[in-house]
Amino acid sequence: MSTKQEQNKFNPFAARPKKGVNISRMIAVVSGKGGVGKSMVTGLLGSAAQQVGFNSAILDADVTGPSIGRMFNITDKAAGTNDLIYPAVTESGLKVISANMLLETEDTPVLWRGPMIASAVKEFYTNVTWGDIDVMFLDMPPGTGDVPLTVYQSLPLDGIVIVTTPQDLVSMIVSKAVTMANQMDIPILGIIENMSWMKCPHCDDKIYPFGESQLEDLAGRYNLKIIDRLPILPELTTASDNGAIEEIEIKNIQESVKRLVFDLDKVDENS
Ligand code: ADP
Repeated sequence: MSTKQEQNKFNPFAARPKKGVNISRMIAVVSGKGGVGKSMVTGLLGSAAQQVGFNSAILDADVTGPSIGRMFNITDKAAGTNDLIYPAVTESGLKVISANMLLETEDTPVLWRGPMIASAVKEFYTNVTWGDIDVMFLDMPPGTGDVPLTVYQSLPLDGIVIVTTPQDLVSMIVSKAVTMANQMDIPILGIIENMSWMKCPHCDDKIYPFGESQLEDLAGRYNLKIIDRLPILPELTTASDNGAIEEIEIKNIQESVKRLVFDLDKVDENS
């Protein structure tokens, strides 16, 4: 059991999972604003974790804009009993829960107020029969609202990964996400810059559609680790639209997952 989960025993706000559930590591994926590829990165991290041999799971906490289901071609509704929900299991064995699995149709809007959404996310942790999970990734809604607040207060997170784009870094919203995590004592495991660059379609040069990255500046200012820089890859858009994200294998992301888990285990050993 991770130290974070040990600590959670003494937290009055703590959410507790069902008997028989053991989630060894929990990493939330956050961003300052929408559209930067946070869900894409969560999907890639989850399937990379599965590819390198971990029992992995994704909890889609982006309740009003859930996109994980489509990425993994999950079309079935969630099954369960009164107080139990069974997660979907993808082709590679990844376990997933997403608000889409509870909605009538994919285009049904979630017309709930913030606190209800936040308690639904808590239930995705407490009422789902996750079983034994080596690493779970949470796709968080963008920004610093009710859901991050509830998740940071009540789930035994090991840390967060921040997703940014080069354009995103010039604004203050990333700084707000960093400050929120710091204030709530949630470790920031590092930053992944998405849509960093793309290959020129005519030659092999790298082009920077969002301008020069200022990632080093931000990382330096807050003493954050740069985990990876992910290019714009048209095959990623297609795969996520077609529910085939698991077919994508990106060496860098696989290595990043292994490093994230290794670093967490090191922290556990030293504490
Ligand atoms: P967010 O979760 O931050 O709102 P998404 O993950 O939904 O953002 O990504 C927004 C859109 O950009 C989606 O259509 C997604 O397929 C696409 N996208 C994200 N990252 C990449 C990438 N590296 N290459 C190509 N398309 C991407």
